[in-house]
Amino acid sequence: MKFVRSSIYKMKIKSQGGSLEKLKLIEDIQFFPPEKITEIQEEKLKKIILHSYYNVPYYRQLMDNKGIVENNKVNLKRFTDIPILEKSDLIERFEELKSNDLKNRKSFVNSSGGSTGEPVSFIQDKEYYDWMMAVKFLFNKWAGIDFGDSLIRLWGSERDLFVGKETLKTMVGRLIKSEKWLNAFRMNNEDMEKFLDEINNMKPNHILAYVESIYELARYIELNNKKVYSPESIMTSAGTLYPHMRDTIERVFDTEIFNRYGSREVGDIACECSNHNGLHISSLTHFIEVINPDGTPAKNGVEGELIVTPLTNFSMPLLRYRIGDTGTISREVCSCGRGFPLLEKVSGRITDRFIRPDGSIVIPIYLIHIVGVVLYDKWIRKFQIIQEDYNEVKVKIVLQSPNNDPHLVYKNQLNEITDKIKFVMGKECNISYEFVNNIPPTSSGKYRYIISKVEG
Ligand SMILES: [Zn+2]
Repeated sequence: MKFVRSSIYKMKIKSQGGSLEKLKLIEDIQFFPPEKITEIQEEKLKKIILHSYYNVPYYRQLMDNKGIVENNKVNLKRFTDIPILEKSDLIERFEELKSNDLKNRKSFVNSSGGSTGEPVSFIQDKEYYDWMMAVKFLFNKWAGIDFGDSLIRLWGSERDLFVGKETLKTMVGRLIKSEKWLNAFRMNNEDMEKFLDEINNMKPNHILAYVESIYELARYIELNNKKVYSPESIMTSAGTLYPHMRDTIERVFDTEIFNRYGSREVGDIACECSNHNGLHISSLTHFIEVINPDGTPAKNGVEGELIVTPLTNFSMPLLRYRIGDTGTISREVCSCGRGFPLLEKVSGRITDRFIRPDGSIVIPIYLIHIVGVVLYDKWIRKFQIIQEDYNEVKVKIVLQSPNNDPHLVYKNQLNEITDKIKFVMGKECNISYEFVNNIPPTSSGKYRYIISKVEG
């Protein structure tokens, strides 16, 4: 049965385009020596810089007469003269960031749920998508996940969760992939019991989960002395995997964890191999810089802010994009023989979790997704959700454009947010809104978008 599923799955991917060919290419190159990989990566970096210079108004303006591109050649030594691209640039300079040849590129608009408190839209295309899928397949392979393996996803995506029922196409897709999706959006004790049953009944080969969701589930299982089926591996994503979390998940599920790092804006960037020496960066698709607080490059082994340049999205190139996370490039080469550099200690912003009166936890990513749903209207510029007390939640909103009576103008949207917060916090919870001109970052410069004043 697995063979049939795996064949149909591969046929389906093949019919959609070049991701399997790209996978083959990366699989061949991954064991090249680091110097050779750097050489290939630099060629790709030059290609996208050149493209940006000639086709993207925003970059043309920034790079003109700077010596970055001269006589049709890129001087990579001047690469860091390109100013860092902020999320606010993506919002304010959206039109200028589009490539002039967009219409030939099978492009589409994608949005991030605002995990940094600031929602962004960006344009991606077919070529980018194929590379993104190829990297996903590659990382899956590292974790031992083969086409056709059964998989439980402890996952939540604002679109999938709120748009409504699954279409027949998605259902068939899941069946072929033998994949079950558990809605990690809400995890009270009843939900966790259900998840546990699903895992024990399905006995999946693998679990793919939000870090915090699988951690919560592991804690629940341990605290209540429950038994859980042990899958071959668990891939964690979308959150910081702290050592205590890894220990708990590994202990409870008695399996190996593969941590993966990526984002909606730039796709999957890095993942652990089975030697677990850090996360290998997908060098053919992403160029990563680590910078010190003063903007200078951080040495290998020193933690700093991550600046990402995706190498495959020519429709809207993001050169030197401040993704909002921190990390360290390892000084070590991995013993697995892969030439891709290792990323260590990758972590996102520090966020609070909400605690319900019954003691159960609402993890921040759910709350971000709540607002993510209404972000597609693009009326919110920034937000902050504050749990003032067990049953008191305040949402601070900065509007895209000022409005005299936002409570009335955005009544429906606010009602929608209220319903969704109540869905996780309970009906008793009071939700209030405050419209403000700005939400300043904390003194450390980090932006807190979820704050809980309730002691857990
Ligand atoms: Zn390795």
